[in-house]
Amino acid sequence: MIALSTAYILPCCIGGLWGDWWGGFVYAGIIRTFLVQQSTFCVNSIAHWLGDHTYDDRNSPRDHLFTALITLGEGYHNFHHEFPSDYRNAIVWYQYDPTKWMIWVWKQVGLAHNLKLFRRAEIEKGKLQQDQKKLDLTLAKLRSTNLQLLPVMEWSEYLDQVRKGRSWLTIAGLVYDVGTFVEEHPGGRSMIYSGIGKDATAMFHGGVYNHSNAAHQLLATMQVGIIRGGGEVEILKRHGKCGPPLK
Ligand SMILES: [Zn+2]
Repeated sequence: MIALSTAYILPCCIGGLWGDWWGGFVYAGIIRTFLVQQSTFCVNSIAHWLGDHTYDDRNSPRDHLFTALITLGEGYHNFHHEFPSDYRNAIVWYQYDPTKWMIWVWKQVGLAHNLKLFRRAEIEKGKLQQDQKKLDLTLAKLRSTNLQLLPVMEWSEYLDQVRKGRSWLTIAGLVYDVGTFVEEHPGGRSMIYSGIGKDATAMFHGGVYNHSNAAHQLLATMQVGIIRGGGEVEILKRHGKCGPPLK
């Protein structure tokens, strides 16, 4: 009865003050109810579709200002699913979360108590892990090759390819085609040529020159294969079990 009175009868009466009973009923009663319901349903639709996975991307809830605006804060829904016991939806002061603000006000006047907050360190860890995941993904896209797709070859097969004229060298078990890079090599052609057909791991990692981070990134774009067993193992080589005998 209270619901019916406040939802429909009261708006009707207020409209009736200036003779518009139907206006009060339709606009402030029915259409308002429709809009409130639609905005509530947005928590289970738009909030699971639009925005960012701030804390976890294994499930669908997302954070977005637009959803927050029409759901009074529930739009920071990734947070809500990740830390459901926390009374907040948004934790940054400028994010729009009037539901949280109201609960806080009720607490000040004694109408709410024992408000739960998730541990700050856990929240930050969740966000950092997700940020890291996004960064890794961006990096993987930039490094056009995928290790899973590279062919695996024996050391002898690698040498065969070099004999056939390919400018391949290996570093830490991976085969790189440096053919198109030889002329651009800042350390000079002869230096990079000296690594072709060899295991250049030590050379690349400081034996000759300790290459920069950018060089590592650039090198990653030249991957063409993986050596079975990880490369030319010096001790096996000495016993004649791997690659050509020592000169
Ligand atoms: Zn949800």
